[in-house]
Amino acid sequence: MSKNEQLFARAQRHIPGGVNSPVRAFGAVGGTPRFFKKGSGAYVWDADDKRYIDYVGSWGPLILGHTHPAVVEAVQKAAAEGMSFGAPTEAEIDLADLLCEMLPSMEKVRLVSSGTEATMSAIRLARGFTGRDKLIKFEGCYHGHSDSLLVKAGSGLLTFGNPSSAGVPASVAEHTIVLTYNDVAQLEQVFAEKGDEIAAIIVEPFCGNMNLVRPSAEFVTAMRALTQQHGALLIYDEVMTGFRVGLGCAQGLHGVTPDLTTLGKVVGGGMPLAAFGGRADVMAKIAPLGPVYQAGTLSGNPVAVAAGLKTLELISAPGFFDVLSTKTKTLAEGLQAAGRAAGHTFSADAVGGMFGVYFTPQPPKTYAEVMSTDKPRFNAFFHGLLDEGVYIAPALYEAGFVSAAHSDADIADTLAAATRVFARLG
Ligand code: PLP
Repeated sequence: MSKNEQLFARAQRHIPGGVNSPVRAFGAVGGTPRFFKKGSGAYVWDADDKRYIDYVGSWGPLILGHTHPAVVEAVQKAAAEGMSFGAPTEAEIDLADLLCEMLPSMEKVRLVSSGTEATMSAIRLARGFTGRDKLIKFEGCYHGHSDSLLVKAGSGLLTFGNPSSAGVPASVAEHTIVLTYNDVAQLEQVFAEKGDEIAAIIVEPFCGNMNLVRPSAEFVTAMRALTQQHGALLIYDEVMTGFRVGLGCAQGLHGVTPDLTTLGKVVGGGMPLAAFGGRADVMAKIAPLGPVYQAGTLSGNPVAVAAGLKTLELISAPGFFDVLSTKTKTLAEGLQAAGRAAGHTFSADAVGGMFGVYFTPQPPKTYAEVMSTDKPRFNAFFHGLLDEGVYIAPALYEAGFVSAAHSDADIADTLAAATRVFARLG
């Protein structure tokens, strides 16, 4: 038995499914999850001392790679001065000031500890501000695991959403309308019929939770225009795309000013930190200023803030995103060429430091298209790469992440490994 297998067996004794977040269990791809004991730059090492080139990066936060010395130093210094105060600190003002400088849409911002908290609080705020209950989300977008957001489409366009998890009351799910990503006509129809009941649209502005799916320009424009026309708020959930697709986030690339934005992952530099913010008049409704309650014992945690500040400083270096985007594009184009050369129906795409790989002829535009992918083939591809020492996300509906620590040689090694795997897939 390998050490990974031993640990997985042991983990299951006291941890449900052996993991603290479900996708880690390798349920989608089969096999034994890798238990990591060390990360450095672009690499992680598992319990059996096998090294992998890591394209998961803790699901997005590690844009500088693992254990970047300057981030580790900032964290150590902050921890030595106090792990948590549950009281205001100067560093959290620095981070708030910086975020509001970097994102023109963000006039006020509140720090929280996870993306789930950020989106949950943003939708409560949108409901409190508008006095409306209905929320629009899109199939395939993931916004964390709060009740209103664990909802799948009902049987018809305007029927109630259904819980996608046991334990979510139908009476909560019925306020969430689940629509098809990139379907402008559907969005227009819903606003025409229910516009005055809708508090907000929440959207992943590039979706990274059904693999990487780009929004069409028409979809982006329609979301902004319809919410404005009907007095609803537009929430850009940039937990994944924030400071990952570019320094100005997805909203910078789209040229859109959302009413509210949620951030997570990169903004915390690998520590538990997230944020939500936006229009000052909307944010004025949050406690202690306003009637919408929101709080957190560890919110603005000084160690997490230190990691976030240092990370944002380093990714703000001139040319950082040009280099990262070029590297990520080289990887995606190389994978697509290798897959097609081996005769597979295969495509790949990249935005900033984020990429998608698909066993479809073209990058998909909707959740249904993503789900039409040849799953056994993806799973064989995943395990082939894993054997070769390349770690991508263990499910076909996840995006991949490149960090500044990935060298050209790492990308070349990955493409060579992928070429061997594609040849073996048959
Ligand atoms: N929103 C998006 C777009 C995400 O990708 C995620 C997590 O992957 C979340 C929200 C939830 O964040 P967290 O896992 O930190 O609660």
